[in-house]
This record gives sequence, C-alpha cells and structure tokens, in this order.
Amino acid sequence: MEIRTTCPYCGVGCGLTVARGGTGVRIEGDPVHPANFGRLCSKGAALAETLDLDGRLLQAEIGGRPSSFETALDTVARGFTRTLAEHGPEALAFYVSGQLLTEDYYVANKLMKGFLGSANIDTNSRLCMASAVAGHKRAFGADLVPCSYDDVDAADLVVLVGSNTAWCHPVLFQRIVAAKAERGARVIVIDPRRTATCDAADLHLPIRPGTDVMLFNGLLAYLQATGAMDARFVAAHTENAAAALAAARADAPSIDAVAAGCGIPAGAVAELYASFAATPRAVTLFSQGVNQSSSGTDKVNAIINVHLATGRIGRPGAGPFSLTGQPNAMGGREVGGLANQLAAHMDFTPEATDRVRRFWNAPHVATRPGLKAVELFDAIDSGSIRAVWIMSTNPVVSMPDADKVRRALERCDLVVVSDCVRRTDTTECADVLLPAAAWGEKSGTVTNSERRISRQRAFLPPPGASRPDWWIVSRVAQRMGFTDAFAYRGPADIFREHARLSAFENGGTRDFDLGALATLSDLEYETLDPVQWPVSASPDLNAAAALAAGTFCTPSGKARFVAVTSRPPAAVATAQYPLLLNTGRVRDHWHTLTRTGLSAKLSQRDTEPFVQVHPDDAARLGITDGDLGELTARTGRMLARVQVTGDVRAGELFAPMHWNAQFASEGRVGTLIDAVTDSISGQPELKCAAVGLKRFAPCWHGFLASRQRLEIADVSYCVAAKADGYWAYVLAGDAVPGTWRQWSRAICGTDCDWIEVADAAAGRYRGAALRDGRLVACVLIGSRPVMGARDALAELFRGGAIPASARLGILSGSLGSVDADRGAIICSCFSVGRATLVEAIQSQRLTSTREIGAALRAGTSCGSCLSELSALLAEAPTSPSGLRRSLAAR
Ligand code: SF4
Repeated sequence: MEIRTTCPYCGVGCGLTVARGGTGVRIEGDPVHPANFGRLCSKGAALAETLDLDGRLLQAEIGGRPSSFETALDTVARGFTRTLAEHGPEALAFYVSGQLLTEDYYVANKLMKGFLGSANIDTNSRLCMASAVAGHKRAFGADLVPCSYDDVDAADLVVLVGSNTAWCHPVLFQRIVAAKAERGARVIVIDPRRTATCDAADLHLPIRPGTDVMLFNGLLAYLQATGAMDARFVAAHTENAAAALAAARADAPSIDAVAAGCGIPAGAVAELYASFAATPRAVTLFSQGVNQSSSGTDKVNAIINVHLATGRIGRPGAGPFSLTGQPNAMGGREVGGLANQLAAHMDFTPEATDRVRRFWNAPHVATRPGLKAVELFDAIDSGSIRAVWIMSTNPVVSMPDADKVRRALERCDLVVVSDCVRRTDTTECADVLLPAAAWGEKSGTVTNSERRISRQRAFLPPPGASRPDWWIVSRVAQRMGFTDAFAYRGPADIFREHARLSAFENGGTRDFDLGALATLSDLEYETLDPVQWPVSASPDLNAAAALAAGTFCTPSGKARFVAVTSRPPAAVATAQYPLLLNTGRVRDHWHTLTRTGLSAKLSQRDTEPFVQVHPDDAARLGITDGDLGELTARTGRMLARVQVTGDVRAGELFAPMHWNAQFASEGRVGTLIDAVTDSISGQPELKCAAVGLKRFAPCWHGFLASRQRLEIADVSYCVAAKADGYWAYVLAGDAVPGTWRQWSRAICGTDCDWIEVADAAAGRYRGAALRDGRLVACVLIGSRPVMGARDALAELFRGGAIPASARLGILSGSLGSVDADRGAIICSCFSVGRATLVEAIQSQRLTSTREIGAALRAGTSCGSCLSELSALLAEAPTSPSGLRRSLAAR
C-alpha cells in the first residue's frame, strides 16, 4: 500500500509516497503534492537509507541506566513538580524543535504556557527564522508570509537574499530554474559568498556581510527618486512611509555610497535597482543570511519596505518571501512555540491571555513572554532555570557558544531529553532520556514555507519503547495532575483543538485561522489533502483575500513601513581574530548529521568539516588547499579541512554547521560563535564571527576503514563518515601513539588476523585486519594526508575473502590514494564524481546536462546537482591540457 507523507528536512515541505514491500521501503516524490509535484532533492531521495535502527534510542534511561518508560515519566513529572513547587514556574523550561509535528508542538506549548505558568518554551526555529517573524509582525501586524510557490513560478524577477536556495531549498530552486528557462525570469543573488545558487544567477552581488539594510535602503530611495513607487498603494494601504524613506535616504544617499558601503561595484547596484524598479512581478526570497544577524529584523523590514513601496505584495508573482529552514518551523510559529508568542498567533495581551485561559480551561496561563533560546540557556547556566526538557533537537551543536551550552546543561539540576537518537552531544548531558518515535513512525501535520499544511503519516511501527512526542508530553502532564486537559486519543484530537483555538473569538482579527478544519472527522483528518491557511469557517473572514485587497492585521488595516538604518555585524575583526567566519549548510547534509549522517550516499560528497579560505588569505597564512586548519575564537576552537577558493571574499571564511562530536572530534562550528542576538527577534548572529586561522600541522595523518563503527580517542583529529558497507575515518595526530601495530589492534580488535607493513623512518604504516580472509578493517598512516580510495574499499568490504592482489594493494599503499577514485562527488544519487564528469565531457564532447544524464545518469534523479553540472560544462576543458588542468584542480 502506498502512503502519502512529507519530507522531514527543509521548509519546502515536499510530498512523498512511501511503499513498503518485500525489498524494503521505496520513497519517491508525490506527483500531486503542490510543493514538489514529484520532485525530490538528494536528501529526500535518500530517506530510505536513514530508517535503520542503528543508533536509535529504544528504551528510556535514567542516569545512564535503562528504565521502564513509566518510571522515566514518573521521574520527569516528579522533577518538574518539585522544581515548580520549590522555585516557581520561571525555573522550568522546554527547548523544542522545528522537527516536531504541529500536534507535538501544540501539546508542549499548552503544558508550559497554560498549566505550568511560564512561557519558557522556545524552539530551535529561533535560530533560523525568528527575525522573519519579528519583521512580519512589525510590517503586517501578524506573522504572515504573504507568498506562495506559485508566485515564484509567476515572477519575472527572483531576488535571492542570503539564501543558498540551490542547496538549502533545492526543489524550490528547481522551480526558479524552470521559471528562468521557460519564461525568461531574471535571477539576482545577494550573498557574500559565491554559492551554487549563483550558477543560475544573471547577477550576483557579493556584498560585505551585514550590509543588506543599506542595499535595500538604497533601493527604497532609488524607487522614490525615479518615480517607481506605487503612490496609490502606499497612500491607501500603508503607513509610516515618510519616516522609512527619510531613513533610507540618510542611510544610502547614492548608488556610489551603497556600492562603497556594501563593497561591490556601483554598476551591480545600479543593475539591481533598475531591474527591481522595472519588474512588477518581483519576488524577494530570503533566508538565514538575512535572519541570522544582529540586525536581522531590520533586514527583513528593509526588504518588505521595497515591496510595500511598489505595491508588490498580495499580487500574483510578487512579494517578500521568507523561506523557513525546518519542515515544521511554520507549524511551531502557529501553535506559539516561540517564547514571545502565546498561542495561535496571539501575543501576551490581557485579552489574549484571558481568551486562551478560557479556551484551555487552564489554571496558570503565562502572562508575559518567556526566555528566548540564548537567554534560556544563559538562565540554565546561571541557575535560575533548574529543570529543562529538550525535545528533538541538539543545542550543544547548533547553538552559538556551544561549549557554554554544554556546561550549562551539565550543571542543571534536571535535564530531560526526548529524542530518537541515543547518542548526540545533547543526550550526553541528559539525566533522563525518553525514546521518541522517529519521522517514519509519527502521524500529524507540518506546515511549509508557503503556509501549506500537509499530513505526515506513519508507515513504520515505533520500535522498542519509543512513543510519539505528543504522547510523551501528555503522559507527563497527566502525571502532574492535568488529566482532563491532556486526555488526547491521538493527533486528530489535538489538531481539531488547535484549529478550534485558531478560530476562537477570532472574527477576522487574526490572520491564522483554521476554523474550517476544526470539525474534521478522524477519517477526514487521516485523508486530509495539503491545504494553505487561512481556512476560515466563514468565507467572509478569508485573510488571504484580505491581503490581496491590501488589508493587513494592524489596528488600521494598513501595512507599516519601518524606518531602518544599517549597522555592521557585532563581530569585529581584531589582531587576534582577524577573519570573519560565515556559517551555513552543505547540499547533502541536514542540521547536526543525526539523520543524513546515516546515509552513505549523502556522506560521500562532504566527508569532513571544511573551511573555505580566499586565496589571498591562504597565501598570507601559508595554508594550502587540503591542509588542516585550526580555527580559534574567544569562545572555542575547531579543526577543519581547508578549501582555498575565490568563492569567499578576502578576509572572510565559510564553514558548515553540521558536524557534531559523534562525527568529528573538533568539528562543532557553534563553539566559535559569540551568542550575540538581534535585540528584537532574539535570533543569534550565526553568520558572522571573528576568528583566527592557522595551519594545523600534525605529525601524522591517517585513514581507517572499518566494517563496524569504532570509538577512536586520543587523536587530534578524527572524522567519521558512513561509506558504502563500512565506516571511513580521516585521522591526524600530534603524537604517535606508541606503535601503530598496537594502536591498530587496540582500536580495530585483537581477534583478527593482521597483515601489515611499517616504515618507522618514513612514518608510514599500512595494515589490514582480516577474519576468515574477509576484510574487517584497514589502517593507512603517513606523514601526509591519506584519503582512502573509497570505491575500491567498498568492493573489498562487499566481497568475500580478499584476493592476494588486494592485500598487496593495501600494503603497497595504492588504496590510500584518492587518485584511484572518481573525484569529489557531484551527483550523489548515482555517485558520479567530478573526475568522471570532466573526463566524459571531454572525451564524449558533451555539451548539455541532458547529454551528461544520458551518458552517466548524473542529474537525472533528484536534480540537486544540475547547477553544478552546468558550471562544469561552462568551464569544461576543450583540450587535453585543459583536461589535465581541470583534473589537477579537483
Ligand atoms: Fe526534502 Fe529536499 Fe524537498 Fe527539502 S527540497 S523538503 S529536503 S526533498
């Protein structure tokens, strides 16, 4: 039977079909889901690889010891009850996640804000889109995303700000590329880095970090100066335009001033401004590059201002469009999962708290906002919060000043973690672990970036003792005495209550209204098709229609311009920390690797944490491509593989945020980032940290491949990656650990037959552990970086007894050369590497992505690599010497 559900990764919210059969689970794009129409990116396409129970948390634990679920629930309920009695409600906190379903979120929010009496529930969505929420509320009077994906399809101009859409929202990016190809839509990218998204750009503006407000203030001033504003719309549907225009003119008095401030050519600024002014159907998409900033809210409003000035909002093909990072960040916003929202898009006004109190029949409704994520962990650190429950998230990796977060949890009286993964950096700090059901085992709803609610449906039974999050929270609530209010039979009950609350005493005053869904039967809920809110029970109260008519949720019904002035990021380069570090995501991984790290397919492209360095900085620092780099900051340290590239600006670095302590010994980028936040949204400035960088020169390098996952301690650098049939480890060390012979046996096992060769003078060791002639592990040590030939190793691990030639290959070192491999992976679906592609483009004279697909299948499945294939074609060598240069550059 085929089950329709949704992808658990990004905010595009792609629909999936899942079929279970004799050969396992088959997951494909849902051809009728309006978010993706059957398309998937590399992450969605590899979901079936992540269903393994390896590493799952299957049983409750207390103090590291297995426990019955009942005992663990009793312990949590007693701990929270005691803390509440002794220290009051403000000593309690929940830290939740955009990975939760709306029903989970709703129950957690209701317990904390309605029954425990505190608003100290915040979500990891604080890290990705709190600035967008704050900007929407300032401008529209409500957290309303005024766009749909249809608008992207219909736009003639797509401006992408601080968004590597090609990698972070790949299926939506494919719609942008299609709009460009089919309708000639123009694409402009504003990003300090040259990213894969730029491959589709007609214009790329690599602005100085944090100068977005100046760029958009300049655009606002330009629109006024050139008569491109929509005076009728501004007069009829907005307020405060004069103040915003005055601020814009003062901040960005001329194109030359903007160009100087943003560090880009004046011609590029002029081209952006002229394009925007001349294109009525213009959508501005923005994401973390805008939101993760100490001036994130102002950036959002600077973008909204230019759409209000031109009336490009609420019309087809036009609007400011915030892309949410997580699958249900939007659902969290709807229920009130942010500490500064009460519930159902209501704030902490006396009227709203009274309304929610009556609706929930709740004894202790919180009357003021709670602590936002950074404040919340600071309060744990200072001891004012004494009991915290962390659900489905990994703040010890994802938060800024991540080492401080770990220290805070270690000193907290009671840390409860409910998760589906046994070992994360955060579960290591837990007093009580509660096994949560994982994505394929849970039922409920999620809301994507375009306000579309989709059903997530279980297709696997929860393994072991694991249970859905709503069930876990409800059982704790009942144990704390709130029996009736949490007596849900299932997610349908919760959804109906959530929908009823959204419509309760609404009367068109709140944009978030699910009234039409409040009476769904269980069957109707089960079969619910994707639906965009608002879906009011009364057709007269349709907020979408109101938006189209230019009516907003402010008291006057008018949208507000916000006067904003640019200001630089808080991080300042100093002599000790002279470089500015930008952080972000890679194409094939998601958040802190707990799921995508289980997929060999998704782990073959970026096998180590890396840092991108501009060639000028690399030359000055004496660092070359492939070296290990040591990054230091006031708050911590990180090791990463150096990539020298002109894709980053001189003086700036880029490093991904994914690696955690389970995959990389020194790879948590969050340790480098000061916990500076936007004063309005509370969102941390994760995109700009002052750091130092130097070459890390270990005395040995190594590569280890093992059939089993291993514990490798006491080395300076250890990065694990799932490979095809084995685990691959890249290693380096400051000191040789005794003899390699002993070291290898201690890690890989003494109960194997070993073949090995050592050359102490050259610092070289090669060994293989065999059992019944089959390869168990392989260790390659040298004085220079060693990268295993992963394809060849996969063959060896797949086969039976390894032949003499392979034994010789291990001992001679031929398996330790990346030259034997296919190069960096470009197409993850079919494991096609750069070297293979370059060779085929050259030898077969391929001229289009279609021809590449026909020859190698690359790009024919999820399409996530199409922009990189186009870039390869554009730079393809046309001569054998060019081919050699290209191969040498990989
Ligand atoms: Fe999942 Fe990719 Fe779709 Fe995002 S774009 S929802 S990660 S398949």
